[in-house]
Amino acid sequence: MCGTVKLADRGERVTLAGWVNHRRDHGGLTFIDLRDHTGVVQLVFNPAHFPEAQTIAERCRLEWVLRVEGVVEPRPEGSENPSLPTGAVEVAVDLCEVLAQAEAMPIGTGDEAEVDERVRLQYRYLDLRRPRMQRNLRARHRFIKRLRDEADRLGFTEIETPTMIPSTPEGARDFMVPSRMMPGHVWALPQSPQIYKQLSMVAGFDRYFQIARCWRDEDLRSDRQFEFTQLDLEMSFVDEEEIYEVLESMISVAWEEAFGHPVATPWPRIPYREAMERFGSDKPDTRFGHELQDVSEVFRGTSFRVFAGALEAGGTVRALRVPGGSELTRGELEGDWLEVARTYGAQGLAYLWRRAGQYEGSIVKFFSETELSALTDRVGVVDGDCVCFTAGPLQVAATALGAVRLHAARRFRWIPEGRFDFLWVTEFPLFESAAGGGVSPMHHPFTQPHPDDWPLVESDPLRVRSRAYDIVCNGVELGSGSLRITRPEQQQAIFAALGLTPAEAQQKFGFLISAFRYGAPPHGGFAAGIDRMVMVGVGEPSIREVIAFPKTQTGSDPLTGAPTVVLPEQLAEVGLRLAPRVVPPGETRSE
Ligand code: ASP
Repeated sequence: MCGTVKLADRGERVTLAGWVNHRRDHGGLTFIDLRDHTGVVQLVFNPAHFPEAQTIAERCRLEWVLRVEGVVEPRPEGSENPSLPTGAVEVAVDLCEVLAQAEAMPIGTGDEAEVDERVRLQYRYLDLRRPRMQRNLRARHRFIKRLRDEADRLGFTEIETPTMIPSTPEGARDFMVPSRMMPGHVWALPQSPQIYKQLSMVAGFDRYFQIARCWRDEDLRSDRQFEFTQLDLEMSFVDEEEIYEVLESMISVAWEEAFGHPVATPWPRIPYREAMERFGSDKPDTRFGHELQDVSEVFRGTSFRVFAGALEAGGTVRALRVPGGSELTRGELEGDWLEVARTYGAQGLAYLWRRAGQYEGSIVKFFSETELSALTDRVGVVDGDCVCFTAGPLQVAATALGAVRLHAARRFRWIPEGRFDFLWVTEFPLFESAAGGGVSPMHHPFTQPHPDDWPLVESDPLRVRSRAYDIVCNGVELGSGSLRITRPEQQQAIFAALGLTPAEAQQKFGFLISAFRYGAPPHGGFAAGIDRMVMVGVGEPSIREVIAFPKTQTGSDPLTGAPTVVLPEQLAEVGLRLAPRVVPPGETRSE
């Protein structure tokens, strides 16, 4: 391979094939850097010895595909390139064959090429030639391969579940496939294999796993695509701890092998409520401290109306100490910083600077000396700090200040490089408020409630904790799972809390409830996002960098032009009539 030729091979005859990465003519000689996925090697074409090979080399353009034969030689003294693994040698070519020519390249294939993402995806097959993309996809392969090996070693059986199924309740929108044979009926693409993996437990496959493709019709983001891959697993006769242990072991082994970073286990466990209070997030970035502080008691009885109002309404006041923050200008704090807090639902962002033993800022006049000195003690404020505050219901005040904490971390470079801080966030609430009133499952309706909170399910459902847990790393949610309900009466009670009548529940999930009547072992499981894990592992900012052929952020594929329109006959065949096509503003393509 091109990238592996080395000094120890001197005098050896080699055959190489690859792409022309670079060509230059110098002193009557032609030099070509030939590239394959292992790297590049320098070829020398000398007309004095092999005129024919050199004539071919002279005609070569970037990205032509060549096969060459020649002899490995040390580079002449002074022309070595120590930054290149093959930099000590060159190959003196005596035979050269052009396997394919290439037109002028629409995009560069070097890592330094700065190209618009649409164009990158349109020419994805060229974009993927870049060393960075080669590295990412090969790391992904190794990661998945190792996860599979570990799963096998731990006694898991990989079972392929169908991808045309009834709608699954993961809370997102389904992609649907109309049924030709049963007009008026549709299949859904799985949002997850949830139902089938639970049925596999009833079927006696006590350790199931699958590298499963899933689909969710949601807006795309840097960590979200329509289709994604997850490490999906389910286990019988287990509690949370055994599930944690299995995942810690699989992921840490595969992580180290694929990404070259050891991951220490066991991972810390933080209940959801604590994560919200300390970090203002259910996916806390724990690579740095700077935790939020509850200063409600400091300001109980304050004359500052914003704080007083929030506290009287049963809310909270939270503070974030920003060391070095006294250098922040009013413009910054009332610009970007406020914007971040507002995006996450806060009404405002209050702040105080601490300089020369005094508090400064437009709100300082509202506070008594006692309040300010209690604040200093509670938060540990010192000169040079800025203290930011949010006030309101806990969820809003903490979430908004949690977002400000992340903003501050980037501004003040609190985040250490090259660290992977894995943790479990546990005891998620069972329900959340539904948009149209009532409650909806925070995870999915098969999640077991926390036994201590079960009595509250009817009277105060939002206070019921669940036996659901997430894996979080560096502030990214990598996956979720839970222990499942297997008692039909409990499942019915959950459906009732969700507002499903017994008839509706029967119609949607009757098959699962029936299955649980025939000896269902207690079970639980997890799904970890492969795309996200690889993204974090290789240090990319988006999952699009670790998926071979992703969609753009606006949900299309510039490479193939999909989604495309189809012939009226094709629609008629599956019994579909589509709403008139709306041309998005700025679109030029006309089919
Ligand atoms: N089905 C869930 C999901 O895809 C994971 C699980 O509960 O195992 O998020």
